[in-house]
Amino acid sequence: MINFQYVRARDVADAVRLISADPAAKFIAGGTNLIDLMKGDVERPSHLIDISRLPLKTIEKTEENGLRIGALVPNSDVAYHLQVAQRYPMLASAILAGASPQLRNMASTGGNLLQRTRCPYFYDRATPCNKRGAGSGCSAVTGLNRMHAILGMSGACIATHPSDMCVALAALGATVQVAGLTGERTIAFSDFHCLPGDTPRRETTLEPNEIVTAIALPPQGFAANYSYLKIRDRLSYAFALISVAVGLELEGDRIKEARLALGGVAHKPWRDPAAEAALQGQAADRATFTRAADVLLRDAKAFQHNAFKIGLAHRAVVRALTQAANGTPQSQSNKKIA
Ligand code: SF4
Repeated sequence: MINFQYVRARDVADAVRLISADPAAKFIAGGTNLIDLMKGDVERPSHLIDISRLPLKTIEKTEENGLRIGALVPNSDVAYHLQVAQRYPMLASAILAGASPQLRNMASTGGNLLQRTRCPYFYDRATPCNKRGAGSGCSAVTGLNRMHAILGMSGACIATHPSDMCVALAALGATVQVAGLTGERTIAFSDFHCLPGDTPRRETTLEPNEIVTAIALPPQGFAANYSYLKIRDRLSYAFALISVAVGLELEGDRIKEARLALGGVAHKPWRDPAAEAALQGQAADRATFTRAADVLLRDAKAFQHNAFKIGLAHRAVVRALTQAANGTPQSQSNKKIA
């Protein structure tokens, strides 16, 4: 039994004040991850600060003709919003590839960014885990690591980030808007999540007294040539072994601009400028796509049970780029191979 106090924030400033007053407090919105962690005794917040009624539930056009998605917009509402579906279908497709309809109805946009890894050792208090207990060790390095990282890991942690939505947001070049005691700031999506290094407990660059208020999407949505390809053990309600978000802008048969991000491979959505540079200005063909996959996976490293993920990632990247270049309609219930 975990004893905690419940308090409801009146507005964003009140939420910031409440979280600043108690380092052991946690925000709760949809609760789709935090409640599980509390049930498993992995999280023991002293206070739950309910932010679910804050006015962060709108999707609006920005001055730059992008979209601003409030942090409390449910994942389902983002995926089915007309502007998102038409202008950013990669994002809609990624969201609909994740979790279940019931979870997507509850889960908030901000919460999706902050969800914790699904490494089973993290949820099992009987096993060592550096993310749960600093310095206790990483059970996954020599344990069951089939789902674990192949890029960007450290000796301290080889966990992956579980989100689908975040892979598309990384590819789109979104920004994260946050508020804290000293005001508001904007964080580039690529700078929001951290690699584990020696401090796997620190998962984002969000300060302890800050709250995510919105995600901003730039104007370019790659709506004509995109793919979100998720490879998993079953067709629904499973985390990605590998996922690939691709956006291409084509000029004839050449690639004018390319975005490429991987999920299921690292502690954060994996976007590599060198792989995108390998696509830029090149012919949109299999040879180019294979070269980009080579670059993207050049530093990949496997553990005992996940060596298959390197080859799988390579094939998935080539396939997703092919789908995007062909303008293949994307549907999570129609897995036709382009
Ligand atoms: Fe813990 Fe990370 Fe190791 Fe999993 S991979 S046991 S989360 S330290």
